[in-house]
Amino acid sequence: MHEYSIVQALLGQVERHARDHHASAVHRLHVSIGELSGVEVELLETAYDTFRERSICAAAELEIHPVAALWTCPGCAREIPRGTALRCSDCGLPARLTRGDEIVLDRIEMEVA
Ligand SMILES: [Zn+2]
Repeated sequence: MHEYSIVQALLGQVERHARDHHASAVHRLHVSIGELSGVEVELLETAYDTFRERSICAAAELEIHPVAALWTCPGCAREIPRGTALRCSDCGLPARLTRGDEIVLDRIEMEVA
């Protein structure tokens, strides 16, 4: 499952950061998930609960921040609202997705001894 490999990658990232900062515990992870990233938030949470047990994140909460999709015109940078044709009404250019397909580890709250 897609979400399982995402979680394994996330935990790997967290473990590297924790080691670099000599952290003794991780309290919370903040992850941004774009609505078009293809990630099911519930599946991601399930995967996290499965994998965190024997990791440094065993006691860490996973906080997921959903990111709404945003399209803009590559010509004039105007925002193009959803539900309309995905094309700029001024330039006629096809809209470009500027936000909403990301999977990003934003922040790690950890205890540094
Ligand atoms: Zn435009």
